[in-house]
Amino acid sequence: MIIGGCLCNGVRYEYDGTISEISMCHCSMCRKAQGSAYVAISPVDTARLTITKGQDLLKEYRAVPGKARVFCSNCGSPIYSARDDLPGVRRLRLGTVETPFACSNSYHIHVASKAAWETIADGLPQHAASRA
Ligand SMILES: [Zn+2]
Ligand SMILES: [Zn+2]
Repeated sequence: MIIGGCLCNGVRYEYDGTISEISMCHCSMCRKAQGSAYVAISPVDTARLTITKGQDLLKEYRAVPGKARVFCSNCGSPIYSARDDLPGVRRLRLGTVETPFACSNSYHIHVASKAAWETIADGLPQHAASRA
């Protein structure tokens, strides 16, 4: 069981599964949404992700049609994103996960639009855009 929550602890969740990949997206939208160099996410099964507290605090923002970025309206922590055409998948923001986990399937995407000041030096696979 993976547990996590937002910065203010108003939103808490449980995921009845494992983190199968770590996708680090460097696109300009994810950088703005996180206020950081990139976002680290994993796809998780919608049916196994349970918001155990603070469902009423969750708010969504759509930078593009068809994709909701869901965050805590009290503290601003991004929790997950969801595409309308993929209702079975949530893309969990791994910075909110509290349970220690290991995952060797890590990679960078949208490195062609990364911040000029960022140097990626971890040796993990890099994809110029989304992963093929
Ligand atoms: Zn919060
Ligand atoms: Zn992105």
